Amino acid sequence: MSFVTGLKCRECGESYEIAALNVCEYCFGPLEVQYDYAGIKAAVSRETIEARPQNLWRYRELLPIETEPRIGLYSGYTPLVKAERLAAELGVDELYVKDDSVNHPTFSYKDRVVSVAITKAIELGFDTVSCASTGNLANSVSAHAARAGLRCFIFIPDNLEQGKVIGSGIYKPTTVAISGNYDDVNRLCTEIADKYKWAFVNINLRPFYTEGAKTYGFEVAEQLGWKLPQHMVIPTAGGTILPKVAKAFEELIDVGLVDAAPSRIYSAQAGGCAPVVNAIHRKSDLIEPVKPNTIAKSIAIGNPADGYYVIKAVEKSGGWGESVTDDEIIAGIHLLARTEGIFTEPAGGTTVAVTKKLIEQGRIPRDESIVISVTGNGYKTIEAVAPGIPKPQVIPAKLSDFDALYEAAGEPPLSDKAVNG
Ligand SMILES: *Cc1c(COP(=O)(O)O)cnc(C)c1O
Ligand SMILES: [Zn+2]
Repeated sequence: MSFVTGLKCRECGESYEIAALNVCEYCFGPLEVQYDYAGIKAAVSRETIEARPQNLWRYRELLPIETEPRIGLYSGYTPLVKAERLAAELGVDELYVKDDSVNHPTFSYKDRVVSVAITKAIELGFDTVSCASTGNLANSVSAHAARAGLRCFIFIPDNLEQGKVIGSGIYKPTTVAISGNYDDVNRLCTEIADKYKWAFVNINLRPFYTEGAKTYGFEVAEQLGWKLPQHMVIPTAGGTILPKVAKAFEELIDVGLVDAAPSRIYSAQAGGCAPVVNAIHRKSDLIEPVKPNTIAKSIAIGNPADGYYVIKAVEKSGGWGESVTDDEIIAGIHLLARTEGIFTEPAGGTTVAVTKKLIEQGRIPRDESIVISVTGNGYKTIEAVAPGIPKPQVIPAKLSDFDALYEAAGEPPLSDKAVNG
């Protein structure tokens, strides 16, 4: 059963039938999926959801598909890690990491949006899927397309990390690298989508794709025991995930799954590409595009499609935005690894570093619940941290050589604040 009623322009309110369409024909505003919330409220309960398989489709009434899920049956429902050692370091009481670095099958939050978009592409009868990507989206579209048996074209900037390029190539899509940045890639793909009529998951299927990001928010609330976090720090690239987590929280309240409670949402960006945070600091909703220059390539989008909606969602929640330098991002990656044993990519280093900054600024109080979004995996971007990792010490396979090394180094200290689990 589906509760989807159609598409609607977010600017002028014009309604459309469900189709592979992302902009309004009258005002060029973005289209959004509409639902029958009263019907959903009558159909779902905490118990029905809890009894379902642990994947993102457990919230299917709030997702824009009209048939059975075709893909993503192992995606989503990633851990919400109680981060006690990181909390101690940051001097806060209640801290969690929502860890999409272990999302199936391509280790980023993009497995959520792609599961929904590709299921929709199959429903709509497409045989070819495509995307404009900073890396993670390409990985996820390539993998899900392989499993669904669809033809796949991906478009990326020509300066991506090797792990991201190989991480798509292994699934044998047609990969096209564009000399330029993501914004150049996206511009070209809009023209290709028009001409070739493929399912571009983040262009003509964008209304469905973005809905998949709500599942990150649904899971956080469910994993907190059907409660909203008081503070949540979320990275911003094109501006999908942040407003969709805000929407997820509102929907959970609307359909009676959680009680209404204040939940402040903060946008995290790299200083080398912070068009949304800059606008928040100017107290403006006009985004001035920037030319990205940061190691956080997966979130380096200088002209974010949905940046305006990030600003609106942050404002409505009573949150804020902050950016951090590349050095702070690297320190954030190390901090999370050292305290929680989680290896994230620079996007996650960004949210960790921004959370630290917001706590130090006093914007996030130390005694309230905080969720840090970790959206991608560090094994894909080893270039970012490799220079700061000590080289292994090479010795012959002889006990006396190890003894000598051990004595020379001195005994390494045990952590004084080990926690259980
Ligand atoms: C795509 C991406 C994001 C966020 O992108 P939005 O377009 O703002 O949703 C965050 N982190 C990682 C690792 C990503 O790949
Ligand atoms: Zn319109």
